[in-house]
Amino acid sequence: MASKKIIILDESVANQIAAGEVIERPASVVKELVENSIDAGSTRIQVEVVNGGRTSIRVIDNGEGINREDVVIAFERHATSKIREATDLFSIRTLGFRGEALPSIAAVSKVTLKTRTANEKVGTLLKLEGGEIKDLRDIGMAVGTDFLVEDLFYNTPARYKYLKTTTTELSQISDIFNRIAVAEPQIAMTLIHNGRLVSRTPGTGRMLDAILSIFGRELVDNLVEVDYEENYVKVWGYVTIPTVYRSSRKHQSFYVNGRFVRSTLLSRGVSEAYYNLLPPNRHPIVFLFVKINPVHVDVNVHPAKFEIRFSRPEIVMDVVTKGIRKALQTKNYLPTFKPME
Ligand code: ADP
Ligand code: MG
Repeated sequence: MASKKIIILDESVANQIAAGEVIERPASVVKELVENSIDAGSTRIQVEVVNGGRTSIRVIDNGEGINREDVVIAFERHATSKIREATDLFSIRTLGFRGEALPSIAAVSKVTLKTRTANEKVGTLLKLEGGEIKDLRDIGMAVGTDFLVEDLFYNTPARYKYLKTTTTELSQISDIFNRIAVAEPQIAMTLIHNGRLVSRTPGTGRMLDAILSIFGRELVDNLVEVDYEENYVKVWGYVTIPTVYRSSRKHQSFYVNGRFVRSTLLSRGVSEAYYNLLPPNRHPIVFLFVKINPVHVDVNVHPAKFEIRFSRPEIVMDVVTKGIRKALQTKNYLPTFKPME
């Protein structure tokens, strides 16, 4: 009937739309898969990409795996093992919770998932193309998950066209990989591109070991430790001494409750701390972790979860500034002011 105009979109169309928000480029796939591996309690994660992720992206972990009964449902939208009800949104302890990554990735690529849990004798192999199941069978394997994504955006030419050169896509991948690896020093993480080692961390549990293996000795020797708490906001991590700086803020990594975020607010807190210590338009390198009661942050702002909202932003910013100032002061990079009589 011509009078009925509104329909509910087919699931595969809905998944492609969601994929547009969550999966922008190969680096988004790497982020989502690695975060799933972390949430699964892995101690080893290996990422192998081919041609900047255009040809394939593979993430192998030794985490808890997915049960046979859960494998298919994991690719449904809003399918998650991480939250159960709306109130759980205020106490999220995992990196994932939206249940959108797997269906989104599967909608725009060819997926081969191999996975096994400790209480299963055999693993499961599941193949999907554009979200449609092509194969599901037993496979012998160790406990963990091996997630292969091939031909990303093969069925969304508009998206494919926006991919940049291999070098650019790889640098986006290693950027997000490195930021996550620094935050998870207890996990031995490896990134391989076209068969060659790009980045690795030893998994010792010490953040400085992770920073050292990724960025090298020179940076580590020029870092000071931040460790500060006020108003129930805790800030810790590492920042460069004022003689070491960069011309852009992209060397600053912020994490809120363990999650890597982009935050102009936290960045402003950093600039404030270095006020008058750096030449104009120069920025320190920072790895800063903020811990705050989850009730005071909204992580559910953006599908890729890069952006967050604080309920009391000025307090958080102030604690960041004070924490860094105190660290620089201990190293005598700042004069100690006596309170006025
Ligand atoms: P979310 O991470 O938001 O829960 P995803 O779509 O990323 O949603 O994943 C769906 C579910 O699949 C997860 O909740 C988890 O139970 C399972 N899963 C995905 N990747 C892994 C993995 N590497 N190891 C174990 N379980 C996984
Ligand atoms: Mg996830």
